[in-house]
Amino acid sequence: MAHVVVIGAGLGGLPTAYDLRQLLPAQHRVTLISEQPKFTFIPGLVRVALDIDPLDHFQLDLAPLARRHGVELIAAKVTGLNPQARRLTLDSGQTLDYDYVAIATGPSFAFDAIPGFGPHGGYTHSICSPAHAQAARTAWLDFLKNPGPLVVGAAPGAGCFGPAYEFVLMAEQILRQQGLRDRASLTLITPEPYAGHLGVSQVSNAQKLTEALLRKRGVEVIPNGAIAAVSPGSITLDDGRTLPQRYAMILPAFRGAAFIQNTPGLGNAKGFIPVLPTYQHPDFPSVYALGVAVNLAQPEQFRVPIGLPKSGQMTEAMGMAVSHNIAVQLGAIQKPLQTPTLEAICFAEFGDTGILYVAAPVLPDPATGKRRYSYAIQGRWVVWGKTLFEQYFMAKMRLGRAVPWYERLGLRAIFGVDLVRPIADAPQQSPASA
Ligand SMILES: Cc1cc2nc3c(=O)[nH]c(=O)nc-3n(C[C@H](O)[C@H](O)[C@H](O)COP(=O)(O)OP(=O)(O)OC[C@H]3O[C@@H](n4cnc5c(N)ncnc54)[C@H](O)[C@@H]3O)c2cc1C
Repeated sequence: MAHVVVIGAGLGGLPTAYDLRQLLPAQHRVTLISEQPKFTFIPGLVRVALDIDPLDHFQLDLAPLARRHGVELIAAKVTGLNPQARRLTLDSGQTLDYDYVAIATGPSFAFDAIPGFGPHGGYTHSICSPAHAQAARTAWLDFLKNPGPLVVGAAPGAGCFGPAYEFVLMAEQILRQQGLRDRASLTLITPEPYAGHLGVSQVSNAQKLTEALLRKRGVEVIPNGAIAAVSPGSITLDDGRTLPQRYAMILPAFRGAAFIQNTPGLGNAKGFIPVLPTYQHPDFPSVYALGVAVNLAQPEQFRVPIGLPKSGQMTEAMGMAVSHNIAVQLGAIQKPLQTPTLEAICFAEFGDTGILYVAAPVLPDPATGKRRYSYAIQGRWVVWGKTLFEQYFMAKMRLGRAVPWYERLGLRAIFGVDLVRPIADAPQQSPASA
């Protein structure tokens, strides 16, 4: 019998635990460790912060889900990992031994990188966690009573930009609907080289559509912007420019979870985990990683550093590969090992319209510098698509499904996107001795 542990019950961890439970025979244990009692659909937090939907619309209680779907749940925070001993330490002081661990702990937030930055004692809001989004909502409702300069954006080193565009354009629509638009100036500060880059260069049509929409809605854009300091009423850039702000929502750069940063050899300096094509750690074969926890380097250099986005759908694909490869290692399935294709589809909601960004794959072929394809399309249907996807994802989490065959078929038929592929010439792994 093997014990497989998944750390983190977010967009990556919960479906991966479900997938493992379905792939592995009952004699193997699957344990999910979560520091949060609830699953949160993180993309919904933009709507929470803008008071469009309540937080509980995007959350599910983990305990009944785990019980119903045969996963053991431990409500705790992992504080230590010993990859040689294959042992985890929890914040309760308890230890837990594993045969395989899948790390899906998402981001921690680099608010300490800029003076005055962030919601913990600083002067900007964030929408990256449920608590941040709730605090951002309270301040947003206050802002609507007395609007003024609204500044939205991302800090140097950030790799997740879509939510900043969603926030500024959805805020713009709300201000218009409430007759307050002329009382607020809107500015987007981003380290991206141009608006609509989103951490991925040369996506056909993305710059043109995004810039045109921001222009039409009267949002001033500062690309290549490096926020250097924040004070209660202003934001200062590294070139000395200072912008007034009455409300600022700035996405931070991400790091990995603290225990990854504190375990020698597990992650890089930022706490992101290096992986092989199997999403297995190169030095610790019992350790797998997925989602934001994985080290995916941005291949290009810009004036202001940026990361590579790790989208929800890329995370799901990584989780599929991880659960499949662990099942192969344990001899539960006899198939070639898999790797995620990192072909990304992103539905971005901008109020009464939206833009679908597709990059297949996110990283171009290193030899040719080309992708299979990429495009961006705009339309109101993108907003409906995003809502449908959110409802579908929440339903899957209730039903204990990761990525069913019909979803894979649909993604291939509609968008031409595959989530995983067999690793060419991968040797069939022998079952672990565990
Ligand atoms: C505001 C926002 C909007 C977004 N919108 C989109 C979108 O529209 N489309 C899209 O594709 N992507 C979107 N993304 C990106 C998407 O949310 C991420 O790709 C996805 O959440 C990554 O999944 P994950 O499992 O790596 O991390 P998460 O979903 O963040 O889950 C990590 C979980 O691990 C838990 N955890 C952390 N440390 C520990 C520990 N030590 N012990 C136990 N548990 C721990 C956390 O509490 C959390 O529950 C958005 C991101 C943000 C911040």
